[in-house]
Amino acid sequence: MVRTRIAPSPTGEDLHIGNVYTALINRVFAKKNKGKFVVRIEDTDRSRLVLGSEERILGSLAWFGLEPDEGTQVGGPYGPYRQSERLELYKKYALELVEKGHAYYCFCTPQRLDELRKEQAAAGRQPMYDGACRNLSTAEILSKLAAGNCVIRLKVPDSGQTSFDDVVRGKITFENSLIDDQILLKSDGFPTYHLAVVVDDHLMEITHVIRAEEWLSSTPKHVLLYNFFGWTLPVFAHGPILRNPDRSKLSKRKNPVWASWYKEQGFLPEAVLNYLMLLGCSISNWSIPDGGEIFSMEVMERNFKLEDLRPVGPAFDLKKLEWMNGEYIRKMDNAQLTIDISNYLKEFSRNLILQTLEPSDLQTSIPLIKERMRRLTDFEPLAGFLFERPSLFNHSEQGKESHLSQIRDVLESLARPWSKDSWEKGIRQLAEEGGVKAGDLFMELRVAISGNKVGPDLFESVKFLGEEETLARLKILAG
Ligand code: GLU
Repeated sequence: MVRTRIAPSPTGEDLHIGNVYTALINRVFAKKNKGKFVVRIEDTDRSRLVLGSEERILGSLAWFGLEPDEGTQVGGPYGPYRQSERLELYKKYALELVEKGHAYYCFCTPQRLDELRKEQAAAGRQPMYDGACRNLSTAEILSKLAAGNCVIRLKVPDSGQTSFDDVVRGKITFENSLIDDQILLKSDGFPTYHLAVVVDDHLMEITHVIRAEEWLSSTPKHVLLYNFFGWTLPVFAHGPILRNPDRSKLSKRKNPVWASWYKEQGFLPEAVLNYLMLLGCSISNWSIPDGGEIFSMEVMERNFKLEDLRPVGPAFDLKKLEWMNGEYIRKMDNAQLTIDISNYLKEFSRNLILQTLEPSDLQTSIPLIKERMRRLTDFEPLAGFLFERPSLFNHSEQGKESHLSQIRDVLESLARPWSKDSWEKGIRQLAEEGGVKAGDLFMELRVAISGNKVGPDLFESVKFLGEEETLARLKILAG
């Protein structure tokens, strides 16, 4: 039974877009193999906890449709799924390692460690614990334990190598002499990431640890722990981290990283997931119905193999994602798009009229703007005028001769309902008589009814507004 997991730490504003990618591949891989996808909350770094972060992370996973089969909210047979509720376990396993001689108590003060770090930095050496507490006598340990604070550290062998196989990167080997005697249990009784992740991945029977490259250098410490406990290693697969165009790790300063930003900016979750999969995975051997870059979750679940993960991802390209989002909008059926736009406006629009539009109000406007939309945010500037008169402020094109009153007269004289033919003919005739370009008159009409020089098809817009509203808007401006 395949069991995968993501293990987000609630130390940021929301789910990081890099974690969306990791969640996606873990979930897709689990589904493909009829396995389970677990979400475990790693909240052991108490100093970095952000209030509300866990709820937002879980909310964002749900928005993307990446809900876990097991986790803090749905429960499951391997719970609890929040590390702060599993402290006794970590303690037990840390003590087991001490007993086996693979870990030891360390009583060094923060001041001593700080000085050590400074000395090492000054000497140009990698900061590492110097093993001062490795060989204390039992008597020393007992008296120090009675006196106060201590941590438990991993006893990394002085020599030799630690190796493991990575599905994406092949065999990886680290020199033990370069691996730090990592703290496993802190003085506050909380485990560090390294101990907790290994204990939990083992107890939760995780078969495949699929995560980003940034965790590769932690893996030898984990492998040592698995070996010391006598546990079977999971399969490791370290996928690419998302990068800025300058190849640096995707960061807040250069790119939007929080899942909520994508929602707010009118991206569709399916489009973002499709883009992330394309970015981090080679699809050359996939069978995709239309053969292109656009594919559904079902296609991912049918085709994805861990071997498809790229070792290094291409740069995250917001423009390409935007293009893809537009393609998704166009593929969507109008009823669904109507619901999505209505929900979006309710949540994010600041315009009181647009906020209250129900799907039934929006329905007939969708064909007018669907082709032009790339994000749900585009609805308001493109179609807002269909529901609200444009502000007069937009009409101050000074010094230009206005033909609005003539246009209004022509339109008013037409038989109702206006047909496209009669309407166009009327305005063309007016242009001819006045020696002006018909295009200019159509533009005047467009600006008058919409407050904008670009927008949906003019005839369709007029039809949507109806004869009375169109004339009323002309009247306000033309007098
Ligand atoms: N808690 C780690 C994180 O914040 C989990 C890393 C892992 O997947 O092992 O992403």
